[in-house]
Amino acid sequence: MLISDNIYYCKNCKKVVKDIEDLLFVEDGSSLSFCSEVCIEKFYSPLIDYFTGKIDKKRKDLNIEEEACLSLLDNPTYVDRVLHRPDEIWRLENDLKEEIFSFISKVEFEGEEAYLVALCFVFDHTPSFVLALTASSNEYFIQNFQIGEEVDSLEDYHQKELPGESLIDNDDMEEIELKKSKLLAEMMTQRKEFDIPFEDFALYMEYLQKTVESYDELYEFDDEDGDQALAYFKAFERSGVSFFYIALCMRLEKEDQTLIIPVLSFPTIDGDLSNAYKQGKLLDGNKLAH
Ligand SMILES: [Zn+2]
Repeated sequence: MLISDNIYYCKNCKKVVKDIEDLLFVEDGSSLSFCSEVCIEKFYSPLIDYFTGKIDKKRKDLNIEEEACLSLLDNPTYVDRVLHRPDEIWRLENDLKEEIFSFISKVEFEGEEAYLVALCFVFDHTPSFVLALTASSNEYFIQNFQIGEEVDSLEDYHQKELPGESLIDNDDMEEIELKKSKLLAEMMTQRKEFDIPFEDFALYMEYLQKTVESYDELYEFDDEDGDQALAYFKAFERSGVSFFYIALCMRLEKEDQTLIIPVLSFPTIDGDLSNAYKQGKLLDGNKLAH
């Protein structure tokens, strides 16, 4: 290897890596890249403190420091919804073309309207790093997050459309959401403390497609609603850390087509958790998904 060969380095700890694949990106159109989740968190933590300070100050001014709806933030289903199926998306761009996105989701909490809000970076159509997350039923407070321009075509900033997604109607979507919230709640109770934190799942979205397309193992089982479900498993390594990616999918029959819809997908470094999903019948071959 020549001294002058191409190298890449972590913008936080400056560690040199040989391969661009070993880097994590957080912001679209930016060369800021990192060797690990820990470095991402360290790099952006002053910015998180900045927004936390701003939010606390605003709550104090409005006298809403203690709101019961803040408990929504402990529920992964709601947090997942604001990040992946928000009702509003706002985009603020500064003169350096740096973007911050604001995702807002309206929910019902104890009979009244409440909102969850996430300020985040977006990479590859997916929220990649959350700078602030809060909940409120105060509309004046929420207006502080309706910043920049509202992105009216949510599709532009959604997760990439899944194959056949245009065939999925609202009833299907509700069924998928319901299954997802059950599976997510169950998974979170089994998840161990040392595992990859829920907040970092977005950094692993790129592994979903790879897992479904070229899985190591595929199981078919009946879910708790009695519907046939599929579990795809694949082992990966990134920056020397091994992990499994698991995609739990359902089959949907639409206009003579069978669609495979990912319901819940997540990374784990916990072999026990991964094994817990290996139930039902092991299907071999790599044809079923296509
Ligand atoms: Zn680093």
